[in-house]
Amino acid sequence: MPYLSYTIEDGDRLYVESICPADRKQGMMADFRKGLLIILSSPSGAGKTTLARMLTQWDSTIRFSVSATTRPPREGEVNGREYHFCERDEFEKMKSKGLLLECAKVFGHNYGSPRMPVEQAIENSLDIVFDIDWQGGIQIKKSAHANRAVTIFILPPSILELRRRLQQRGKDAAHSVELRMCKAKDEISHWSEYDYVVVNKDVGLTFETLKNIVLAERCRREMQRGLTRFVDDLLVEFERLET
Ligand code: 5GP
Repeated sequence: MPYLSYTIEDGDRLYVESICPADRKQGMMADFRKGLLIILSSPSGAGKTTLARMLTQWDSTIRFSVSATTRPPREGEVNGREYHFCERDEFEKMKSKGLLLECAKVFGHNYGSPRMPVEQAIENSLDIVFDIDWQGGIQIKKSAHANRAVTIFILPPSILELRRRLQQRGKDAAHSVELRMCKAKDEISHWSEYDYVVVNKDVGLTFETLKNIVLAERCRREMQRGLTRFVDDLLVEFERLET
């Protein structure tokens, strides 16, 4: 019999899991972990979108949470890839039906994280990365998913550098760059509400730090399914060896 099946309790849910005993011997609990919600926030231009995409490319079990927004698409943005672009009434309908896990108004437009892909990811032991502002980060930290959420705030190395990056990326008109600079001050003021804070001086080094955070968070005791059962089995193995 190559696989063992366990029924594992997680809150009020029951999961039936399978794992190869050979993998268990090597301590490979990857299939047993719960999906992590990785929340990246930062002022616009500090690099969180790039970092979020790098995480999904590094590990295919990390999915990107595609937000819904009433902001019009920028050149090159594809509906369903960067955002789900929608009209205001459509957004309000999703909000009133409880289809958004969190939502906020940013730069005069509505943004929100659709709930269903997040819950599907969790069910399938997949992680999901959010590129959202501090208002969204706080809402998720207060939601039923708080115990599986890790919040990471990305800071720019300096305000001058932030302005330079905003101007250089050329996505925004000059007045919009100034608007984003004003919002940056407000966004940065929430740094202390986050679990981790990383200064993005060098995107490669920041990415290494993010990978380490994700790897460590996955090892948190409460993030591993079936751990009690696994340890119980180790104890049984002890008894067997002793007799
Ligand atoms: P942009 O329009 O430049 O893509 O995004 C503007 C800001 O809105 C960024 O700080 C981005 O992280 C934030 N944002 C994007 N999607 C969401 C979302 O679903 N919820 C919240 N709260 N903020 C979002």
